[in-house]
Amino acid sequence: MSLYWNSRTKNLSPYVPGEQPKDRQFIKLNTNENPYPPSPRVIEAIQKAVNDSLRLYPDPECTVFREAIAAYCRVRPEQVFTGNGSDEILAFAFAAFFENSSRAKPILFPDITYSFYPVYARFWDIPYRTIPLNDNFFINTAEYTIPSGGVVFPNPNAPTGIALPLNDILSLAEYLEKTKNVFILDEAYTGFGADSAVPHIVDYPNLLSVHTLSKSGSLAGLRAGFAIGSVELIEGLRRVRDSFNSYTVDRLALAGATAALSDPFYYNEINSRVVRTRERVTEALRIMGFTVLPSAANFIFMKSLNINGSDIFSALREKGILVRHFNKERISDFLRISMGTDDDMDVFLDACSSIVADPQRT
Ligand SMILES: *Cc1c(COP(=O)(O)O)cnc(C)c1O
Repeated sequence: MSLYWNSRTKNLSPYVPGEQPKDRQFIKLNTNENPYPPSPRVIEAIQKAVNDSLRLYPDPECTVFREAIAAYCRVRPEQVFTGNGSDEILAFAFAAFFENSSRAKPILFPDITYSFYPVYARFWDIPYRTIPLNDNFFINTAEYTIPSGGVVFPNPNAPTGIALPLNDILSLAEYLEKTKNVFILDEAYTGFGADSAVPHIVDYPNLLSVHTLSKSGSLAGLRAGFAIGSVELIEGLRRVRDSFNSYTVDRLALAGATAALSDPFYYNEINSRVVRTRERVTEALRIMGFTVLPSAANFIFMKSLNINGSDIFSALREKGILVRHFNKERISDFLRISMGTDDDMDVFLDACSSIVADPQRT
């Protein structure tokens, strides 16, 4: 605490990102980065963009990038918003669409979900209520058809990896459209098997689909994301952005992100490899006796029946493997494992099998 902090700053409870270790070479399976490099076209485009034009501000409307997204998603450029990673877009969307008064109806999201949502809600003073996942860790969308200030969750959900059928998503969007509430659908993990709501966006003026190039685009270091929605939602996001910072995506990011969208063949290739690895690892872990939730993302959520989550976490760390553990009710025995290369995952599986064989030594 500092005397110089205002009460807002004193009351913040910031998000804690996964560790990015500098001291030691770990097999890093803790932040859901893509194990494969971005398309060579991305590197080439960024190298080309390193020139005297860096003297100039970037295009605040990200026109070329937005046109590339529009073509890729088969929507109009006016239905596209771009940002400095999707976290920024989510923060803007909370500010733009959810009411911040203590008398407002609370927004709804699952008890187990992306841990940035309560952080944004508190930052903007938005009341919220969490709805428990069911016993199988699924989101039951029927429980969200109640009076609220709006809904936000990821599909597939994080950190469970479980995807909902598109019909559940669209029925909920329809209900929320009738009550004039915004539904922020965080599609950070499309590209690994789940269906996206983007082809249906024209039918739901209240539905904002938020995407990132960090995971399936293998560009977590670049900071680029986008959202697809009705023109009125996109306009709302622009009003908020232009009340903060009009230049959220820099020239190099614009060049690289636009190039990424031009190479879907490459990305299909690397992301199907991630999916194949996920299926193989899931199967191997189940044979060892672990519970592994069915994932449609680039990570899995697993637990052992007899060794607790923090013990496995420490044993893996000891062996040079970094995974994510959430010390939180209901999931403290689970670990979230990002998919690495097949070689990384073989090392991981060997480590798991020795932990299972000799839990005492962990
Ligand atoms: C990774 C992730 C994001 C953030 O992505 P960035 O574009 O890197 O900011 C948003 N939502 C969920 C659910 C994520 O897992």
